[in-house]
Amino acid sequence: RKLGIALVGLGYYSKNLLAPALQQTQHCRLAGIVTGTPAKADEWMAKYNIPKANVYDYKNFDRIADNPDIDIVYVVLPNSMHTEFVVRAAQAGKHVICEKPLAITEAECDQMINACRKANKQLAVGYRLHYEPFTQEVMRLGQQKVFGAVKFIESSDGFRIGDPSQWRMKKAMAGGGPLMDVGIYAVQGARYVTGEEPISVTAQFSAKTEPQKFKEVEETMSWQFRFPSGAMSNSTTSYTAGVERLYASCEKGWFELSPAFGYGPLKGRTSKGPIEMPVVNHQAAHMDGVSKTLLDGKPLPDHITGEEGKRDVRLLQAIYRAAETGRTINLK
Ligand code: NAD
Repeated sequence: RKLGIALVGLGYYSKNLLAPALQQTQHCRLAGIVTGTPAKADEWMAKYNIPKANVYDYKNFDRIADNPDIDIVYVVLPNSMHTEFVVRAAQAGKHVICEKPLAITEAECDQMINACRKANKQLAVGYRLHYEPFTQEVMRLGQQKVFGAVKFIESSDGFRIGDPSQWRMKKAMAGGGPLMDVGIYAVQGARYVTGEEPISVTAQFSAKTEPQKFKEVEETMSWQFRFPSGAMSNSTTSYTAGVERLYASCEKGWFELSPAFGYGPLKGRTSKGPIEMPVVNHQAAHMDGVSKTLLDGKPLPDHITGEEGKRDVRLLQAIYRAAETGRTINLK
């Protein structure tokens, strides 16, 4: 049996990545949609053969509770809307996948985690890289100390943003700027290479070189984590220029991915040569991985759960506090 997934929000990521990936998945299928735009509903029903009974809008969404075709609700909305729809999906008795960042605040993460727990449903974050072979390889190289202990990491993700009127540039909807959007990958990278939780953070905002564009959110920022082993990481995120790199320097060598966080193919090398791994569709691998675990009736691996999403949201908030105060923030 394939689990039925309903996508909530039919924007860029749903349309261009998730729906096409769901044509390749083995353990799940695109069964329903939730959209505020009737024209999109018609287009998607025709394109993906979705029955009218599996199409919802944001108001009648709660009726999804009565629809046995839908096993998983996948929330792909602007960040500020994640909490409401995850909670409603759980209350409708569905498992939930929610896009990153899980929410804007830790309190919202708790609401989502508690709603899923109360409904006895599982909550996964859209952390597709945890099912991606190049990423799994650098997790292994770092966590198993294949090149000796990791000493320092450079982990950065940024791009030049287009349309300045989009929700990503609005603090209330996005929670912040590039840190919330792609800086979260740099945070994850440092955490999954070391396999450790940072104990303190310092951070800096850049000056705004395009102040009319970046009225509400940061343009570029950097931060540094210290880890219990003594390892240190340095990261930059930006909406004004591109970077996409995860590099680890170890006692006896180094390894890196660049590109490290995009939709692939990712590329990697070590001080001993290239990293060779199968190239997979990230979104299909992620949704199949989550669905297989649910079909097997098992708990999701900790590193893609709501708890993991909350750990990152806590760190994002600490990075902002460190940059705003100019102080070292203790994370212990
Ligand atoms: P998008 O702007 O393309 O799509 C957002 C959708 O939400 C649109 O269909 C829009 O109509 C709908 N929406 C409903 N109410 C809205 C409102 N009040 N304002 C704006 N839009 C509203 O965004 P996206 O790029 O698809 O991102 C959606 C989510 O997916 C975000 O949380 C983002 O961080 C995440 N995302 C994750 C990845 C990944 O690789 N995991 C990649 C891209 C986006």
